[in-house]
Amino acid sequence: MCFKKTGLLWLFALGLLTLGIGGCAETDAPPQESGAPELNLARISAADAEPGNWFTTGRTFGETHYSPLFQINKDTVSSLGFAWDYATGTTRGLESTPIVVDGKMYTSGTWGRVYALDAKTGEELWYFEPPLDGQVAGDACCDIVNRGVALYGDLVYVAALDGQLHALEKATGKIVWSQDTIVDHERLYTSTGAPRIAGNVVIIGNGGAEFDARGYVSAYDLKTGEFKWRFYIVPGDPKNPPEHPEMAEALKTWDPNSRWDVGGGGTAWDSMVYDPDLNLIYVGTGNAAPYPAEVRSPAGGDNLYLSSILAINPDTGRLKWHYQTTPADSWDFTATQNMILNDLEIEGRVRKVLMQAPKNGFFYVIDRETGELLSAKNYVPVTWATHVDMNTGRPAVTQVSKYFSEPKVQAPTDVGGHNWKPMAYNRDTGLVYIPVTELEWLRVNAYPDGYKYEKGMINMGSWNFPTDDATIEAYASFTPYEADYLKEIVRKASPAPDRELLRAWDPVKGETVWEVVNDSQNAWDGGGILTSGGLVFQGNSQGYLRVFEASTGELLKTINVGTSIMAAPMTYTVGGEQYIALMAGYGGSGAWSFPESSAAYTRGNDGRIVVFKLGGGEVPLPSLLEIELFPEPPEQDASLDQIQRGGLKFASRCAFCHANSARNLVPDLRRLTPEKHELFEEIVLEGLLKQNGMPGFAELFSKEDVADMYAFIISISREAYEAN
Ligand code: CA
Repeated sequence: MCFKKTGLLWLFALGLLTLGIGGCAETDAPPQESGAPELNLARISAADAEPGNWFTTGRTFGETHYSPLFQINKDTVSSLGFAWDYATGTTRGLESTPIVVDGKMYTSGTWGRVYALDAKTGEELWYFEPPLDGQVAGDACCDIVNRGVALYGDLVYVAALDGQLHALEKATGKIVWSQDTIVDHERLYTSTGAPRIAGNVVIIGNGGAEFDARGYVSAYDLKTGEFKWRFYIVPGDPKNPPEHPEMAEALKTWDPNSRWDVGGGGTAWDSMVYDPDLNLIYVGTGNAAPYPAEVRSPAGGDNLYLSSILAINPDTGRLKWHYQTTPADSWDFTATQNMILNDLEIEGRVRKVLMQAPKNGFFYVIDRETGELLSAKNYVPVTWATHVDMNTGRPAVTQVSKYFSEPKVQAPTDVGGHNWKPMAYNRDTGLVYIPVTELEWLRVNAYPDGYKYEKGMINMGSWNFPTDDATIEAYASFTPYEADYLKEIVRKASPAPDRELLRAWDPVKGETVWEVVNDSQNAWDGGGILTSGGLVFQGNSQGYLRVFEASTGELLKTINVGTSIMAAPMTYTVGGEQYIALMAGYGGSGAWSFPESSAAYTRGNDGRIVVFKLGGGEVPLPSLLEIELFPEPPEQDASLDQIQRGGLKFASRCAFCHANSARNLVPDLRRLTPEKHELFEEIVLEGLLKQNGMPGFAELFSKEDVADMYAFIISISREAYEAN
């Protein structure tokens, strides 16, 4: 290790740098593919010995999103500027943290495409387009994103949206092996997470709990791709024998008459993290399907292993311990958010911990050897529970969480106090930097007259939406309630205003040390975090990269990138020079339309990888777009009833992509051209635009349904036209 933990030594190291003595000079030799040592467990485990590389999504196996590099620090950051950029050829969300090994960058984008670039120049070495088999954009709840690749030996692993796990030759991008990780193609599964290396296997999960997925993770031999094991997260119908012993245990926490047809959920769609010393892979599991516990498992029960952290032995696939953050989840409270492994001194004892800030609003510190809960303080305002009982490890749930018979204003929301955007732990300051969202939203039961499961549709069973009058008026028709009734509930609850912040959190004390409020109206502004050189780096949807001093939160530098940023920056060196890299492109969950404050709105959403270095220039900005007026739609004489019926159908399947707001990721249906008006029914039923990701819905919708939805679209088009 060439870099020490303590603050004093760290300052000392900065001093050396100023004197021109690189603390890690021995690792800064120019990279050479042929001469580079094999990328194996030992090398990744010793990541601190070569801080110029970034080996995993979070740099090390512990995935702290921290780098010991220090050329770029508070004394030098003022000259940080443009080094190079690369056009990804995409127009949707980019969420990956690039990996850089031996001077080459590997990262993923939309659909699971992979880019291999020269990390010094940005020159493309190869590009991989996954051979997608029938998957369409509407099969994904939260955009056709991908959260990264994994590297091991001579292979690069990526999970494409269709759930195919591909192992690519690192030198060429050619497929070495592929495995279909989806067990049931009748259900709407997708893969968007980064695969993880653990022991001799590569592991991948999936998403789809908003539809009808039953979550699991699958493990394959690193070299051959041979299937090794599968760990289901929730039980299947007890009429069938449980697939493995843990499912027999889990079944005891479910009503035998649960809604097995809806799949149960629990999908592990994002974070997994490996501890090579303990030989455990930690898997964060997702929310329930359907959401309301009263519908899903009417007799009650915790419904293991929803919203949990699972510690699994990667050699055997057997569970060592589990911790359930949200028993009987009814609120989309995934525990899939990024987990960080580190040592922390707690009450005089150094503990090997796992840290996570899942959607439910509590920051968990867990002993990762045993699963013992060490701390669970709320890192955002929480109304669904008063606290976590440290004796039982269970949240003390309040009346606010019980929305089944009466709508409630609840915090956090579906968006989560923290979502997929990586937080980072800086071992020099001892702080965790979390991109947090503070929201109190209405939570309503979508089907008080009886839950309906519809194959191929969003099947959540509850809605969660903002409390302003305009949103309530827009959403009320999708609920069984009158807008005035919902407004009255909001008035009585008097929710706090929406806020989006970067919060520096002391994980030992369980308290905020500093915070910066993002100054826009949009609650999804701030991107993932990198901490390095005594600094904190965060991009935002307005298209700026901001750099803060890590101890105080002082804003030291702002760079206009001109493209909206959600993904976490990372850092590496080539030839002794330090670079900061990030992927820029807007989209993802809860971001179907571009807020007016976003760069995506003003400058478009052409995806880019943007790289910075000291002494770099201005970042080239995409040109400003002209605001186009809405076209006049055809006249119609549809009844209000028909328009409302169409609106409900639209909400149940179409709105996830075609939200009713300007400048969408996918076509704004209020801007239909005359040809599209003509072809509307064929597009929706027969899949005329399938190659664009728009499937045919003949199995779901009748011609009458399409006529209703068309009436709804004409109605909102007319509104937009008149408001031009
Ligand atoms: Ca979810």
